[in-house]
Amino acid sequence: GLILGIESSCDETSAAVVARGRDQLSNVVASQIATHARYGGVVPELASREHLLNIVPVIRASLADAGVAFADLDAIAVTEGPGLAGALLVGITYAKALAFALGKPLIAVNHLEGHIHAVLLEQAALDEAATPLPALALVVSGGHTHLYLTQQRGDSWHYSNVGRTVDDAAGEAFDKVAKLLGLGYPGGPWIDFLAAHGDPRAVPFSFAQIKSKPHRDNSARSGPASQYLFSFSGIKTAVLRYTQTHSLEASIQARQQALASMSNPRPQDALALCDEETLGLIASFQRAVVDDLRRKTFRAAEELGAASVLVSGGVAANRELRVRFTAEAADHGIPIAFPSLALSTDNAAMIAAAAWPKFLARDFAAEDLSAQASLTLGR
Ligand code: ATP
Ligand code: MG
Ligand code: FE
Repeated sequence: GLILGIESSCDETSAAVVARGRDQLSNVVASQIATHARYGGVVPELASREHLLNIVPVIRASLADAGVAFADLDAIAVTEGPGLAGALLVGITYAKALAFALGKPLIAVNHLEGHIHAVLLEQAALDEAATPLPALALVVSGGHTHLYLTQQRGDSWHYSNVGRTVDDAAGEAFDKVAKLLGLGYPGGPWIDFLAAHGDPRAVPFSFAQIKSKPHRDNSARSGPASQYLFSFSGIKTAVLRYTQTHSLEASIQARQQALASMSNPRPQDALALCDEETLGLIASFQRAVVDDLRRKTFRAAEELGAASVLVSGGVAANRELRVRFTAEAADHGIPIAFPSLALSTDNAAMIAAAAWPKFLARDFAAEDLSAQASLTLGR
């Protein structure tokens, strides 16, 4: 039951060997953060080029770390989408060639399903009963903020998309707010660190109730209920307006220049460059986002009868989110699980884990598998 997982949907090239969907024999991640940092976001052309440079060494390292040879593998799994088309294609093309050359089955995995299985993979290694099903899964990353009611029937997994963002993803809000405050990229870890030094009640941010937009196919019954919709573009604008009305522009520019002059600036370096007002702004922003995610997630869990809550994706690495979600779960008497920090952001172990039930069901990819940039999960 050895599966090689390959992930190249965004700015991480990753390969992992996972046994029977639960034992991580290796998980190698080559991050492109350094490449994209000076642009303040992922540059698609640069991402594809780096994936091309990294894919062969990363796959070799994943096999070496696991102590297995190509011939030992039972299947090759690869991220089919969603993601950047050119980036996805690098992994898919390599995976197809490898599967063909080895005469092994190829399995296509939805990246979002992978994020959910990042939690399940580690839980299964501990104690399967710790995350009873159906589970409400919050996938919260740089490109997604989605709620899925997740169930298992036999070997197959079913996802029902019950909530989503109508505009920016939560991670995108962290990244944009960090950028407009003159902090580094990606913004999440900077805000996470600095928020711990500020007063989260300093600035009262609020979220309006989101009106449900008609679904693409115009059918009233499909699409998430409006109480589980998120919107994070408004708070980014509110932070910008605060910096303008409180004349923070000069200090933001000074901070940005000071960090730009350092060779490898870290969040700790920004602390001395932030006054109390800025730290309060950062802490209040983070508290508002975390509280909105927490309220809607637990409301959905309660109303939809979920037996546990799973939180994954890059923003699941946030410390305040973990603390406040864990406390809320205890209040509700509902078990909650997060991936380890390494499996919160993009990685291939989660792709190999999500592929295991498909391997058991002999759900293999067609020979003409191609990249699905806007692939969705569930209905
Ligand atoms: P996708 O959205 O397709 O899953 P992605 O690469 O954007 O892809 P991840 O790698 O899962 O997603 O997550 C990256 C995001 O997580 C970034 O927006 C980053 O700022 C955010 N992030 C990382 N660490 C933290 C943290 N400690 N607190 C808040 N956000 C964080
Ligand atoms: Mg990423
Ligand atoms: Fe991701």
